[in-house]
Amino acid sequence: MNLDTPIEFLKGIGPERAKYIKNVLGFSVVEDFLTFYPLRYIDKSRIFKISELAENVDTEIQLKGKITDLQEIVYGSGKTRLSAKFRDETGTIELVWFRYSKWMKEQIPILTELIVFGRLNEFNGIYSIAHPEIETDEKKAVSGSLLPVYPGSEKLAKRGLNNKFFQQVVSDILRNLPQLIEENLPTSVMEKYRLISRQHAYYHIHFPKNKNSADHANRRLKFEEAFMFQLSYALKKIHHKSTAVGNPFRHVGENFKHFYAEKLPFELTNAQKRVLKEIRLDMKRPVQMNRLLQGDVGSGKTMVALLAMLIALDNGFQSCMMAPTEILAQQHFYSVKELLQDTDIKVKLLTGSTRPAERKIIHEELLSGELTVLVGTHAVLEDVVKFRNLGLAIIDEQHRFGVAQRARLWAKNKIPPHILVMTATPIPRTLAMSFYSDLDVSVIDEMPVGRKPIITAHRREKDRLSVFRFAKEEIEKGRQIYFVYPLIEESETLDYKNLMENFGHIVDFFEGKNVTMLHGRMKPVEKDAAMQYFASGKAEIMVATTVIEVGVNVPNASVMVIESAERFGLSQLHQLRGRVGRGAEQSYCILMTSDKLSKESRTRIKTMTETNDGFKISEVDMQLRGPGDILGTQQSGVVDFKKLDLIADGKIIKAAKDAVENLLAHDPKLETADYQSLKKYYTQQYRGKNKWGRIS
Ligand code: ADP
Ligand code: MG
Repeated sequence: MNLDTPIEFLKGIGPERAKYIKNVLGFSVVEDFLTFYPLRYIDKSRIFKISELAENVDTEIQLKGKITDLQEIVYGSGKTRLSAKFRDETGTIELVWFRYSKWMKEQIPILTELIVFGRLNEFNGIYSIAHPEIETDEKKAVSGSLLPVYPGSEKLAKRGLNNKFFQQVVSDILRNLPQLIEENLPTSVMEKYRLISRQHAYYHIHFPKNKNSADHANRRLKFEEAFMFQLSYALKKIHHKSTAVGNPFRHVGENFKHFYAEKLPFELTNAQKRVLKEIRLDMKRPVQMNRLLQGDVGSGKTMVALLAMLIALDNGFQSCMMAPTEILAQQHFYSVKELLQDTDIKVKLLTGSTRPAERKIIHEELLSGELTVLVGTHAVLEDVVKFRNLGLAIIDEQHRFGVAQRARLWAKNKIPPHILVMTATPIPRTLAMSFYSDLDVSVIDEMPVGRKPIITAHRREKDRLSVFRFAKEEIEKGRQIYFVYPLIEESETLDYKNLMENFGHIVDFFEGKNVTMLHGRMKPVEKDAAMQYFASGKAEIMVATTVIEVGVNVPNASVMVIESAERFGLSQLHQLRGRVGRGAEQSYCILMTSDKLSKESRTRIKTMTETNDGFKISEVDMQLRGPGDILGTQQSGVVDFKKLDLIADGKIIKAAKDAVENLLAHDPKLETADYQSLKKYYTQQYRGKNKWGRIS
């Protein structure tokens, strides 16, 4: 027998049961039982004293003593329960049965030494155990270890597949243990991170001596999982670097230098300088760059992107910048164009609504190389869009682009362009460490100087008048205001009606001010006009749906009122808030909600009022929504870890990542003797089936 032996050959299983187990639990080989981890343990390793029960309420315990009194008690409307006094030398508790037969009642031994086992309850200072297990033989009752409780169901139990069954099968397997379970981690790694062996881990995860040995087993198994996962990504990255050729951008030339010296509207933050350097070093080498640029909303990613494009240009290459929405692409286009005015660098915008005539010109100019910087939406990906020599592709707001779409960019040049992916909101640390480990990551962890932290407040309907008055005062000071409304697709018509009504109220209240509106039903030209009207300062108020969520940049806007804020997700709220606080003025974000909030909405609102830090917010968001949702639908299913918890196990993930990096840094081919067992295991596991597919 080995780990790959089909389960039908296990004692007590056979072909029929094997088929059933396979159907219900998906098990096919012996190893599946070993990785069927207990949910929790029952502690039958010791006997408690009644005097020490206070700390053990709601856990399962064993007591040794005698029943001194047994009687039926009538309660409620004629129901009876059986109640016993159980006493040891330190005190008394109650044992109760709500379901019992006369026969059973007679079987309960009185005044003899017993071991009782069950879950301890406490009510008004009185301890009790309902439906306890009773054992008269102490040797049978006390086991040498904690006993596993497996995830089960009544359906399984009916077929004899109850907890006892799983305990039996697993303990049979473990008895053959030494020959079965080969170590798969290098000794050096196990020593450094103080990990127990794989054998011991499997043993102690199922039958731990005590809580401490269960913890050690848990940690080892989690580490192993994180380690193998990181290794698969790291090897992919190494493979990519050794095979993916790229155009080396050897020098920094006139365009960059001139812009940097003459046109830069502000001093770069140290973080911007650092990530720019990382990008430059990447692009210098004849290997395709694959880099993720992380930075909070407003941290200045666009400027870094622009400077990278200038380096491409200095080396004779074209670049393109893609955004997921038309509005955002337009915004980028305007800001890039403005920054590059009075230079002879040609910039154009290509989106779904670009007119055919203009489109044709763009296509021609891209082919001839006359057009060097293209900003756009998905339209850029179309096959008809051909470049003379695309050297750099920047993708903003990465979550909204699918993997396949990104791959199409690679094909835009014989030697694929360098890729820089920019995220809209920070990704939780553990996710970034896990799922982007085949990308190099740069982080802008510093905001431009002079920014005042946005003040965020939670208000309810009854405060509306004061919120409006406050907004009015801010307008009098020369500021601009956003009012944002949620839009949920299922009731689009209703939402739309709602938006129009509110627009009316705002126009009435802010009489004499210009109010403009932006929503998803408008044509691109209309949206563009509305946006320009607001951006130019002609309108003081913008009433909008979440179309303004990403990237919109109007520094003079200092108040963001988010209506029905409980209907927005956390990262969305943070994105929206990021539309203010872009200038030197004190900015405000007001979250309007109804009076009744769910627990989760309260957490979201509270998090928003407590912090401006996007990294912190993303952590809370992950706790609320789970990692799968944060990564986006295209990547769901990649978080199917058996033991590892991406939310709670940050430390282990970091340790495993360090271990993998360290190991590959000095032996990328795993040739060291100490790594042979790892290599063997890894090759067997991943041959032909890459469990964790490419992400970028
Ligand atoms: P995001 O990272 O969210 O894309 P942006 O690139 O839109 O942020 O930048 C937000 C605002 O900050 C813009 O108005 C931009 O001009 C400004 N900005 C960027 N870098 C700096 C800096 N180093 N100093 C001052 N302002 C900056
Ligand atoms: Mg941006």
